[in-house]
Amino acid sequence: MGAEAPLRAATPAELRDWSESARRQGLRVGLVPTMGALHAGHVSLVRRARQECERTAVSIFVNPLQFTPGEDFQRYPRQLDADLEVLRAEGVDAAYLPAVDVMYPPGATTRVRVAELDEVLEGACRPGHLEGVATVVLKLFEAARPHRAYFGQKDAQQAALVTRLARDLDTGVEVVVCPTIREPDGLALSSRNAYLRADERRAALCLVRALRAANAAYAAGEHDPAALRAEMHEVLDAEPMARVDYAEVVDESTFRPPGRLAALAVRIGATRLIDNHHLGTPL
Ligand code: AMP
Repeated sequence: MGAEAPLRAATPAELRDWSESARRQGLRVGLVPTMGALHAGHVSLVRRARQECERTAVSIFVNPLQFTPGEDFQRYPRQLDADLEVLRAEGVDAAYLPAVDVMYPPGATTRVRVAELDEVLEGACRPGHLEGVATVVLKLFEAARPHRAYFGQKDAQQAALVTRLARDLDTGVEVVVCPTIREPDGLALSSRNAYLRADERRAALCLVRALRAANAAYAAGEHDPAALRAEMHEVLDAEPMARVDYAEVVDESTFRPPGRLAALAVRIGATRLIDNHHLGTPL
């Protein structure tokens, strides 16, 4: 119904041709990078791109470089047909679907590293993860040549890293960070939520509960990062299924204290979930 199926591009050259043709017509190009298994969080980025740009491309690529050994690269949800249907219904113009050996042909050893930011929190817990993100995002920018690229606040450190990379490497891409979309009960949408059993799904609410506890303490005048951190740990420690990687209050661009961003990573069973919140704003 309605919109046409998006153009499918499988190589950087195909996507660049599409983008250059839009640019020649004076049209703005928006890019939404994803790993697929699309949900309402992804759709919110697509809608924002469609509002702000005359042409929108969505990439779907499960990027092996950003998974550390032993993580869920093999079992990460892949549902291309359903995803393409979402893109068609949302009026997306181009879908970029590169194979792994197109993205990383043999001998492609170049890596992009955003120093300092990659040493803390996600960078410390998942060695190589942020380098994998930075490398693929720069390659996606080169292929799509977008005016704007859209990322979710849900992955706050990734959004900060991409913002810095775009500026430091003179990409000319404006990075737009969009709000986190949540389930009615507060759980942040994530493709990895599909891994959760019913009891784990209930336990996963400890993330947003911890953020709410820190937010309430902040609103009551508590601004000491250590005390706010303790508020979050108290909530997380009360959930027997949770194992905490970190729960910190940090600056939103350096990801080191002091700051106003409460950020946490928690394992519920075999599933690692992350979430964050700017203290002092509604949650
Ligand atoms: P992913 O497919 O998980 O790599 O995510 C692709 C993009 O969607 C990233 O910029 C994410 O930050 C963003 N995203 C994922 N979940 C959400 C969410 N719940 N709300 C807003 N954006 C999201």
